[in-house]
Amino acid sequence: MKVYKFGGASVKDAQGIRNLAKIVTREKDNLAVVVSAFGKTTNALEMVLKAWMENDPKYRDHLDNVYSYHASVAGELFSAADPVRDKIADSFAGLGKYLKSTKRSSWDFEYDQIVSYGEVWSTIIVAEFLRQAGIDTLWVDARKCLLTDTRYRDANIMWDESSEQVNKVFNFKTSSVIVTQGFIGANREGWSTTLGREGSDYTAAVLASMLDADSVTVWKDVPGLLNADPKWLSDAEKMEEISYKEAVEMTFSGAKVIHPKTIKPLHNKNIPLHVRSFLDPDAPGTVVKADATLRKVMPVYIRKEKQLLISILPKDFSFVMGDNLSRIFQSFNTFGIKVNLVEASAISINVCVDDERPKVDALLGDLKNDYSVFYNEDLEMLSIRHYTPGAIKRITSGREILLEQKARSTVRFVVRGK
Ligand code: ASP
Ligand code: MG
Repeated sequence: MKVYKFGGASVKDAQGIRNLAKIVTREKDNLAVVVSAFGKTTNALEMVLKAWMENDPKYRDHLDNVYSYHASVAGELFSAADPVRDKIADSFAGLGKYLKSTKRSSWDFEYDQIVSYGEVWSTIIVAEFLRQAGIDTLWVDARKCLLTDTRYRDANIMWDESSEQVNKVFNFKTSSVIVTQGFIGANREGWSTTLGREGSDYTAAVLASMLDADSVTVWKDVPGLLNADPKWLSDAEKMEEISYKEAVEMTFSGAKVIHPKTIKPLHNKNIPLHVRSFLDPDAPGTVVKADATLRKVMPVYIRKEKQLLISILPKDFSFVMGDNLSRIFQSFNTFGIKVNLVEASAISINVCVDDERPKVDALLGDLKNDYSVFYNEDLEMLSIRHYTPGAIKRITSGREILLEQKARSTVRFVVRGK
């Protein structure tokens, strides 16, 4: 079997869903289809959440806008009397009811209860459209098979139990195509959880691994993986094939085309990942696989914006590399802050992280109990894989460099933002 994943951009309107159906029809059997929320729905639901958490009655208007959007897409795809339209309306009413009740818990908990609806709505519409297009389609609620822990907004999948359940539910003997939601799961208490923004790619990889898929294809609005973001460097070129290692390094450094967590499950089972254009489904795109050769070794440029560079110094002038090191990184882990770059000297350590407030403030507060802490904000981390002197010059000239780190195949610069 294969896994296809369609992101928000590919299902942003009725036209996109018709296109999805065309692409799915070419494959037809033994296909799991993982779908994100339509267009910018996740952002819109974040606005609903924010207003609601702040007791701002405008949350209702935000929710109405999201509803109108889905109702209009459904209106284009289905007849006026089609029961799927009531189904969508009922689901929105369910969320409306939830929002009328009192808040149960933390921001992160409520985030997952509310934002997870986006994927539920998109998959209801997509599955029904495929069914009406004559494809034998089953809609699966990912929350019934992907069991996670309770780390809301960044939940971890309980692998063994989920795998058992996934293999029961994804039965291609009884349905040809199975549609499910990316990004969401549920914990043991039955509450919805989410896997981190843009997490649908990861869901596709997880399902592929559990079901021993032949391949995963992520359908995107770009021709494949490029050696730079074309909005940054306009002469970016598409790469035909790259190794898992290359892909992990790229996504870790900040390449946004696929979610960083996607590669590991695929690598572990040697399942190739195709990144292809849903606008040009005949084009081959990029394949990420074990024995890939970079036909032409070219520099790969990655830019990560909104970075903070934190300097941490023991107050008593003790070495940072001893006991301090585990204490410091324990703190990063506790507050859920991912480390993008580390550089240490005898009595100080510099760490570059995404500027995620308020999580970062909590971390800084904790570190300040034991250390002197300084930081710079509004920075960018620029990385080049397979760097050359020309490549370095190209992206650093005229930039103020705060930190530079060179390893065998990657060089990174932390520079002040423009
Ligand atoms: N809809 C979610 C998001 O926008 C997950 C995804 O698209 O992968 O973050
Ligand atoms: Mg999305």
